[in-house]
Amino acid sequence: MGDCIFCKIVTKDVPAEIVYENNEVVAFMDLKPVSPGHLLVVPKKHSQDLLDASADDTAALFEAAKLLGGAAIKGLNAHGFNIGVNTKPAAGQVVFHTHVHVIPRYDNDPLKMWSHMDNLSEELNVTAQKIKSGLV
Ligand code: AMP
Ligand code: ZN
Repeated sequence: MGDCIFCKIVTKDVPAEIVYENNEVVAFMDLKPVSPGHLLVVPKKHSQDLLDASADDTAALFEAAKLLGGAAIKGLNAHGFNIGVNTKPAAGQVVFHTHVHVIPRYDNDPLKMWSHMDNLSEELNVTAQKIKSGLV
């Protein structure tokens, strides 16, 4: 798709350290890892973010992410892994070809993925109702 860097990695027009490939997805090392072994899984078919990805590609992405997370535990002696999908710029998405981050984790590593809120401005049931209204 035009100038998309991940499409070019899929077609091998741009080099990447590819770890795994099947009919639907390619997985390669993230150039700027947040943890040793950080990799990205992308669908071969361009979509700009998770909301734009087909159900088949979404399933294939998460199957591959699970496979690769398990491989990181075995091959890198990682102790766990996080799976992350940044969707839209507000969530930190900077490459607009759907991708899943697989981030190996190590006991006592310094990464902090979440910061919890103590004081919410509205009740959880009000927020839940608003999300439910977005399902229709
Ligand atoms: P996101 O912020 O979710 O859009 O993440 C984009 C990720 O792609 C970042 O972690 C970058 O380090 C990574 N990245 C960008 N270009 C390349 C590339 N050519 N090869 C490997 N990883 C890349
Ligand atoms: Zn693309």
